[in-house]
Amino acid sequence: MALYVYKFGGTSVGSVERIKAVAEKVKAAHDAGNQIVVVVSAMSGETNRLIALAKEMQAQPTERELDVVISTGEQVTVALLSMALNNIGCAACSYTGGQVKILTDSSHTKARILRIDEHNMRADLDNSKVVVVAGFQGVDEQGNITTLGRGGSDTTAVALAAALTADECHIYTDVDGVYTTDPRVEPKARRLDKITFEEMLEMASQGSKVLQIRSVEFAGKYNVPLRVLSSFTEGAGTLITYEESEVESALISGIAFNRDEAKLTISGVPDRPGIASKILGPIADANIEVDMIIQNIADDATTDFTFTVHRNDYQRAKTALELTCTELAAKKVTGDDGIVKVSIVGVGMRSHAGIANTMFQALAKEGINIRMISTSEIKISVVVDEKYLELAVRTLHAAFKLDQA
Ligand code: ASP
Ligand code: MG
Repeated sequence: MALYVYKFGGTSVGSVERIKAVAEKVKAAHDAGNQIVVVVSAMSGETNRLIALAKEMQAQPTERELDVVISTGEQVTVALLSMALNNIGCAACSYTGGQVKILTDSSHTKARILRIDEHNMRADLDNSKVVVVAGFQGVDEQGNITTLGRGGSDTTAVALAAALTADECHIYTDVDGVYTTDPRVEPKARRLDKITFEEMLEMASQGSKVLQIRSVEFAGKYNVPLRVLSSFTEGAGTLITYEESEVESALISGIAFNRDEAKLTISGVPDRPGIASKILGPIADANIEVDMIIQNIADDATTDFTFTVHRNDYQRAKTALELTCTELAAKKVTGDDGIVKVSIVGVGMRSHAGIANTMFQALAKEGINIRMISTSEIKISVVVDEKYLELAVRTLHAAFKLDQA
């Protein structure tokens, strides 16, 4: 007998008909002799509606109360799905996060899971019941309702799978797996059968947002095999796992990109110890996340310092940097908020030289100018002008033969 945790997102439970379809799918898996725990999101659009409602009441809602409001979306869907299951002769029982006892810390709206009590779920599973758990929510030591951050149902599912040592955690969503790149940019993008946790993290943090990043980190940490698949079509989806050996033949697994980038340069900075922290300190204090950082020494004992931020933070970062520029008696601040980042990702590049060169040559052949480069063990990223995004993605997709299985 296998134990599976299935998670269905908002679109998959977006209407009465869809919830009934989910119930049929769950029943079939249960009838086949498996133990099933189902995690559901709120019906699509519901969490946004609840947040808007709270904001009508209070511009900056008290976070404890906000969690009480926004956790209700999932409370509705667990009960409806349990009803649908019971109605077709599949015994099921719904649980809120507090009823399972998914214990979290007290950071409302972004709580972290500390412990999961499996006792209630095990008892139901042993009685051949399907267990239906509300995603996205937990309870703190004092009994306050908490939520895990947007998209948090994915993390609930993975955490339950880890606690119950499930055979696999299935994330049913509106796409049928993880692709080599976004099919809206490159129609020849192909669904991957497998990808490693590390690659998935790079793909996700780079903007291929199929799963909440935290759920992938969690799955990697506890070695929970994670499968992304469509709730609307049949198919094996994409398995996210540790087993590198079988994926090894591919040098590059995918092309990730991020449209929302901006870069800032402070030039003519006196080159002495402590400069990097003087420049980035005020940026961090303003709660602005920095991605790539490049520092270059000029021959006149000054240095140019360039970094990228999210486009939404561009103006604030620029203002902070201009202050620093005056303070340090540096030359000037320049910036560009019309840039994008394109990355190739693959564990295969660890053991192969020349990948970077293939990338740069392919881009050069199309006349795409590279503005910045950064590398990690399994990723090479370039910053290019935003008008080249589509061309760069398609060029690299072809250069690494990602359209061929
Ligand atoms: N309903 C929550 C949200 O919309 C959690 C989730 O769907 O994963 O963010
Ligand atoms: Mg989601």
